[in-house]
Amino acid sequence: MSTRSIALANQKGGVGKTTTAVSLAACLAERGKHTLLLDLDPQANATSALGLEKLSGGSVYKSLLGGALLADSIRPSGLEHLDVISSEVDLAGAEVDVARAENYLQRLQFALTPIQGADRYEFIIVDCPPSLGILTMNGLAAVDSVMVPMQAEYFALEGLAVITRVLQQIRESGANPSLELEGIVLTMYDGRTNLAQQVAAEVRKHFPGKVYKTIIPRTVRLAEAPSFGKPITTYDTGSYAAKCYRSLTDELLAPPA
Ligand code: ADP
Ligand code: MG
Repeated sequence: MSTRSIALANQKGGVGKTTTAVSLAACLAERGKHTLLLDLDPQANATSALGLEKLSGGSVYKSLLGGALLADSIRPSGLEHLDVISSEVDLAGAEVDVARAENYLQRLQFALTPIQGADRYEFIIVDCPPSLGILTMNGLAAVDSVMVPMQAEYFALEGLAVITRVLQQIRESGANPSLELEGIVLTMYDGRTNLAQQVAAEVRKHFPGKVYKTIIPRTVRLAEAPSFGKPITTYDTGSYAAKCYRSLTDELLAPPA
């Protein structure tokens, strides 16, 4: 068994990174895939969305600076086959501390390597903060591929240009030469507007084969779930939103065409 690691990244906030990270992790676990969800955002939204308490000192922070073994931060999520490395506000301090450390882009990669090597998980899903700062860069340097959730709105392509440039920079820096764009997922989609449809078509044109067929609609069920501390798969297992995330998971698990 080998571990496949995927980061959810987009410098914009509120595009569905955390929702997709949590939903995807839950769907993979539901399939019996041993999955680790790593919350790399000091805001700890993924941690709360699973109903987990933010533990002081419980984030990746110390491990990034070499002061702790990352495996010791792994917690059960309460869901079968899903473990979590949670976050808390202290992680914000890592931006400054890690920037001063040697190999500052690869601190998470070094911390995560033993967990990947242990073949304990089939999937590691990393939820990045809404910026392209040191934490996100560490996330990108530590994974096999990046999934970019985006909303179909004006300037969507400009945003994608920024993130693809950063992926190229990470590759060229040598920190992660084989980093791939896993795919782009349209989220919070409102197909009733012409704009959404036009933007979706534009993105498909610019990134052929990279945009998932599954589109995540805007739905109140996804907005509600975090306040109940449950992923959509258990909050409303029969909902259309759960079905969509399951079909996104199918696409992820399908062998490349
Ligand atoms: P990010 O992690 O990119 O900042 P989130 O996943 O936290 O974005 O989503 C931002 C807000 O929108 C959250 O309150 C979330 O519950 C809500 N949300 C996410 N996806 C959807 C959706 N498809 N439909 C409705 N609300 C959503
Ligand atoms: Mg988030």
